[in-house]
Amino acid sequence: MDLSLSEPELDLVAICRDFAQREIAVRAAAAWEEARCPTDLLRQMGELGLLGILVPEEWGGIGMSTVGFVAAMEEIGRADQSVAAAWQAHVTIGSLPLCLFGDDAQRERWLRPLAEGRALGAFGLTEPEAGSDARGIRTTAKRRDGGWLINGRKAFISNAGTDMSFGVTLLARVDPLEEEEPRFASFVVEKDTPGFTMGPKLRGIGWRGLDTRELYFDDVWVPHDHLVGDPGMGLSQFLRTLEVGRISIAALSLSLTQAVLDLAIDYARQRVQFGKPISKFQAVQFKLADIATELEAARWLTYRAAYLRDAGRPFRKEAAMAKLKASRVATWAASEAVQIHGGVGYMLETPVARFYCDSKVLEIGEGTNEIQHLVIARTLGC
Ligand SMILES: Cc1cc2nc3c(=O)[nH]c(=O)nc-3n(C[C@H](O)[C@H](O)[C@H](O)COP(=O)(O)OP(=O)(O)OC[C@H]3O[C@@H](n4cnc5c(N)ncnc54)[C@H](O)[C@@H]3O)c2cc1C
Repeated sequence: MDLSLSEPELDLVAICRDFAQREIAVRAAAAWEEARCPTDLLRQMGELGLLGILVPEEWGGIGMSTVGFVAAMEEIGRADQSVAAAWQAHVTIGSLPLCLFGDDAQRERWLRPLAEGRALGAFGLTEPEAGSDARGIRTTAKRRDGGWLINGRKAFISNAGTDMSFGVTLLARVDPLEEEEPRFASFVVEKDTPGFTMGPKLRGIGWRGLDTRELYFDDVWVPHDHLVGDPGMGLSQFLRTLEVGRISIAALSLSLTQAVLDLAIDYARQRVQFGKPISKFQAVQFKLADIATELEAARWLTYRAAYLRDAGRPFRKEAAMAKLKASRVATWAASEAVQIHGGVGYMLETPVARFYCDSKVLEIGEGTNEIQHLVIARTLGC
């Protein structure tokens, strides 16, 4: 397996590094306080082609490899996790259901604006009563008047409530609803559709810029052309989309770990106690060496999952392993980095404290780490 980046991937990384340092990192502290989705930055990223990074050129994207996306994420996520979280949710779960399973008319109508950076995509799976247990969703879609009547509620949906949002691709149970084995289908519901409303932006302990809300569907009628793929295939479409989402969360985790490692090294070199920089104490050196080693292990798992997807080979197990390992490393490394900073690392004025707050959700989103264990165990025949 050759993990060296190609010329186009290297060019993309250089563009992302420059943009991330010049436009995103300088605003990270203020953005934390503002706690709103930075759609102006996302629009600029759209102009660079980044909002269509995984979409083929035919549909307005730049058709980058998954490996290239992971490498680009390492740059964006080091600058600000909220921007990176909104970006990755748009690129993977927000756009891929239409990209992978939509017909050409749907791709032209909804995917192209997403890929060209004119709109932000959202993915509606989770509900108040059904998170890990995706088959337990209660939102229903019934055939009515040549279309579908949708009723239900979605929880923790990202990117649906911004001034750039186009609506949501959601999963619902479809007729016949009384069958023992439920059938699921995915639908596009555009914003401003009568009956589609949403709650206020929720306040997380991290990812403060990410716009995450509850969505409500009360007798929302959509025409038949809003159904994505065949009725009955929705759940498998959503689960396949989440496999890519897991590589993306793993990449986000790498970016966070690299960021806190860099911050901890800088701080340890300049902080003097007992007459010398704390980087000269072996206890501190060992923490830094451990973070660097675990980061490299997580990086290999993540790039390998991305490489397998690019090669058209199965990557479900590898994506789950990458997400499990990289998110664990990130939460642990963020805690160790705060420890190295001492009291100042506890204060939200410092970037390391903000990364610490951002880290926890990496173990929860796109399937909790317990669910990653289940996915991996299944591939072991358990
Ligand atoms: C910031 C943020 C953004 C999000 N964005 C989106 C989005 O855009 N779209 C979307 O659809 N969802 C989104 N989610 C929802 C996210 O995917 C869910 O929170 C996650 O899947 C877990 O579901 P839950 O919160 O209902 O927890 P639950 O499923 O209720 O789990 C609670 C606990 O029980 C454990 N558990 C559950 N089942 C098992 C089991 N079988 N074995 C062992 N342990 C188990 C879990 O691991 C967890 O520790 C977002 C969440 C957050 C926090």
